[in-house]
Amino acid sequence: MKKTISIFSLFFCLNSYPAQNHFYSFSDDAFKKEIDELLISVKSHLIGSIEVPAETHMTNRVFLSTMYDAATDTLNIAHNDHPSIIHEFGHHVFDYNLVKNIPIWDYFKVRNSIKYKEISKVLPGKKVELQKWKKSLAQRSNSSSYRKYAGKKIKELTGEINDLERVLPYDSDYAAIINTSNIFKRLTPYQELFADVMTINYLDDWESIYDSALLITGNPQESEFRKFTLINDLEYDYKDPYSHFISFKSYLRNKHKNAKDINLSCAYSTIADNLEKDLVSTKGTSISDMNGILITDYGHCLEALTQP
Ligand SMILES: [Zn+2]
Repeated sequence: MKKTISIFSLFFCLNSYPAQNHFYSFSDDAFKKEIDELLISVKSHLIGSIEVPAETHMTNRVFLSTMYDAATDTLNIAHNDHPSIIHEFGHHVFDYNLVKNIPIWDYFKVRNSIKYKEISKVLPGKKVELQKWKKSLAQRSNSSSYRKYAGKKIKELTGEINDLERVLPYDSDYAAIINTSNIFKRLTPYQELFADVMTINYLDDWESIYDSALLITGNPQESEFRKFTLINDLEYDYKDPYSHFISFKSYLRNKHKNAKDINLSCAYSTIADNLEKDLVSTKGTSISDMNGILITDYGHCLEALTQP
């Protein structure tokens, strides 16, 4: 699955909410139905544990891999391997929650959308552009096709300006960090950890991610770090983001009899809280220290749930 995953090349209860899955370029209706049902089921499973994105946009480009593009919030489904589809959807869920809860990630994504230019330099130009479109729309409002086109541009620009204004106050705290360290690289191991934990928890199968990785890569060695092992005798490889939390994954397998017993809410808060600390620190936390912290914090989160 390693080869299929590129999260930055640079998703309610069935009966209570309408399914907000949007499909583009799907030619096979049966396949579309299969994916729609799968994601509705996963979303339903997540309710109560983590906030679920209301809308999921999906493409079916079979010449690409199954992947989530955080820049466009789009999931590409290239095949019907459910564990890897759920894993990629896990990236979408995690990213959606990070943007809402972790200012530095929200800030990073907006800076990325303007090619890392300075927000204060881009914002005035966007506002001028918006006023031009509004004026132009008022002058040519008798043309319905133009109203539609200009309306779309105004909506897009308004969204961009809202994003830029929302993160502008973070400039003083985070601009230097974004400019001097690769926070996307530091985020990746946490993203992969959450996506794998969410997948095995939903499928209630400790082996599902390893089996899926093996199926897709055909390489047992390359898939080794995706295991949730009872006995952890693997050493992490700094260059392989899947390997960083092998100790924490082994702890989860020893802590819980079944993968469905993992508390996803605690898993999310533990991973996200420590990710944030890691991103805003100047040097980052060592991998062995971070495994220890995740194990301690997840344990404390479970204990807090059982307190009267
Ligand atoms: Zn991934």
